[in-house]
Amino acid sequence: MKSLEQVFSPEGALAGAIPGYRRRAEQVEMAQAIREAIESTGVLVAEAGTGTGKTFAYLVPALLAGGKVIVSTGTKTLQDQLFDRDLPAVRHALASGASAALLKGRANYVCLYRLRRAVTEGGATSREEAGQLQRIERFAATSTTGDRADLADVPEDAPIWAQATSTRDNCLGQSCPDYGDCFVMRARRNALAADVVVINHHLFFADVVLRDEGIAELLPACNTLIFDEAHQLPETARLFFGDTLSSHQIVELARDARGELRSAGGASPELEALANRLDKAARDLRLALGDGPLRLAWPQALGIAGFPEALIKLRSALKMLDAALAAQAERSEGLGACARRAGSAFAVLTRLMETDAREDVRWAEVFGQSVQLHVTPLHSGELFRRQMDDHPRAWIFTSATLAVGDDFGHFTRELGVPEAQTLRWESPFQFADQALIYLPKGLPPDPNDPAFTDAVIEAAFPVLEASGGRAFLLFTTLRALRRAHELLRGRIEYPLLVQGTGSRSELLARFRSLGNAVLLGSAYFWEGVDVRGEALSVVVIDKLPFAPPDDPVLAARIDALKAAGRNPFNELQLPQAVLQLKQGAGRLIRDERDRGVLMLCDPRLLSRAYGARILKSLPPMKPTRDLAEVQAFFGRARLPCESG
Ligand code: SF4
Repeated sequence: MKSLEQVFSPEGALAGAIPGYRRRAEQVEMAQAIREAIESTGVLVAEAGTGTGKTFAYLVPALLAGGKVIVSTGTKTLQDQLFDRDLPAVRHALASGASAALLKGRANYVCLYRLRRAVTEGGATSREEAGQLQRIERFAATSTTGDRADLADVPEDAPIWAQATSTRDNCLGQSCPDYGDCFVMRARRNALAADVVVINHHLFFADVVLRDEGIAELLPACNTLIFDEAHQLPETARLFFGDTLSSHQIVELARDARGELRSAGGASPELEALANRLDKAARDLRLALGDGPLRLAWPQALGIAGFPEALIKLRSALKMLDAALAAQAERSEGLGACARRAGSAFAVLTRLMETDAREDVRWAEVFGQSVQLHVTPLHSGELFRRQMDDHPRAWIFTSATLAVGDDFGHFTRELGVPEAQTLRWESPFQFADQALIYLPKGLPPDPNDPAFTDAVIEAAFPVLEASGGRAFLLFTTLRALRRAHELLRGRIEYPLLVQGTGSRSELLARFRSLGNAVLLGSAYFWEGVDVRGEALSVVVIDKLPFAPPDDPVLAARIDALKAAGRNPFNELQLPQAVLQLKQGAGRLIRDERDRGVLMLCDPRLLSRAYGARILKSLPPMKPTRDLAEVQAFFGRARLPCESG
């Protein structure tokens, strides 16, 4: 078997097969640590700064060790990138015979049965949808995977997809006439047979909770499970270990129940009336809460006149429809599926109304047309931990942002893995030469000052002039983002791109191709954005990204920590903000030739004791408070271009 040193050496397998590959000591060390964790079926939490090359650092030892490996990524885009680009490159370099499969959630695959029904029953509601349905049909006839990501000319969020894909509730499983050709089942069979399976975190948790995504079948044979972008896991775990019920979901259930009744033949005025009653109860629940968008803690929601009554009426309507549907479930598959949906909605509503407030947080999220009711567990660590106990295997968690300084306590507590080995590798980039941290002078001492955003823009303006645009301005609130837009519109000579005026990928593509644009964004752009080279040379961050303490889940978690005599600021709020800030800052320097300025405007970085701790957690860029130094930095950077 090849040794890691050989594979990563300047004359080794990777250098021979991958153009531009360079040996990095951090990468080799990380690969060695991962190999040891695999051999000892250990739990390793590994933070690898930008540019370490962590993907190869885990793929190489995992492939060399053999056995079944599952790699989980944070998003479907990263999943595709890993499967289409990195994994084939490493397999080729190692001349590995390991087979690989990509597995996504069932909603990503065309459902042949539902597609045919939508076509024959005229499911399209417009000419546009009819065209989309035709394209999906043609795609399904030729695709080997049925993966929607491969059909670019039907938008990902087109409503027609709901009719051409399946859910756990409406899939007919083995009684489906298309079972043999089913894309979902094929992807699962491939995953079962493959040595390396690439999944995503949502799929992992959806399966843990619902046992419906095919991971449970994969796990027994798996001896290495690697989570990349692992910093997202606690949040994703909380999402899936909780429950959500939306008024929209109930309205859809009522509509589908009526539709299934009609297509099953034989009118049932009584059932129809129950469906109508449920529909009305769901709409009344939404109306009771007034204007959205809004997030309400459960006691706040219960204090709103009409909401408790609307909740009781909804439960009663759901119970009655559930019972009526259960009695009709044998008449058709569709009615059976509606009965199951009603049953599970009733169970969620009951959990919401009766849950133990010490373990769960209940809250409501009000949108323009609908309301979502949530039960979120206070502690996801214990629930995650249980998944790890069934079978000995290596668990590897990696990301560029897991630690605050050298302290991994926040992450390991959140995930329930206090015994994990924790290791960090700094980025190999020369941050002290490649980047400045600019802490501007003269901003209001209180970041909540109404004039704060105006002051941020005033301070950023000369920096944008010096850099020639090429900047991300990241704001912690949408209000600040809008104000910044007002202030900059018409005032700068560079193209201004604003979050909300296009999809994230469209805006990023324009940002890259324009080369001198200024992009205004909020949380949406803090993560997972990779713009290499000169197009991004400045990242401005207005305030420290502390989550708003009135967020119902955060507020409940703060209360729980206080009640346990612990310090919520140090244990929860500060680490969360630091990790988020590291993500935002990480957008700036993406390779060893990148140069740039990170402008942090929050005066608390200098006025509060925790500020020093935050600054120490960031990559070691050269700090400055001097605008002239920033201007000189770009002056130097631009000279070669100007003279050449
Ligand atoms: S088995 Fe389920 S997902 Fe597959 S084609 Fe049939 S209904 Fe669709």
